[in-house]
Amino acid sequence: MDLFEFIHPYGVLVCKPCASGVAPAHLHTHLLTKHQEHAQVGEPSGRPGSAVEKLVSSLLERYRVLDPRRVPIETPPPDSLPLSGLELYYGV
Ligand SMILES: [Zn+2]
Repeated sequence: MDLFEFIHPYGVLVCKPCASGVAPAHLHTHLLTKHQEHAQVGEPSGRPGSAVEKLVSSLLERYRVLDPRRVPIETPPPDSLPLSGLELYYGV
């Protein structure tokens, strides 16, 4: 199963189990802290975390993920429908 969904119009990667956007700079830490099971995949003898590095670089190669520290991320207009895959927060 794909852990992430890319929302093209906004350049944002959404972590599906967490239902939240993850900035490229936080992908590695996010995977290691929240989804350790993916850090171990295919790494019976290798050093832990290298599967995560591979996953992060393949995600960043595949998608043009915007870094909110450098580029302002556009937000949808208030009357638009909720983005699929994101949890809704009211009053934010
Ligand atoms: Zn997550």
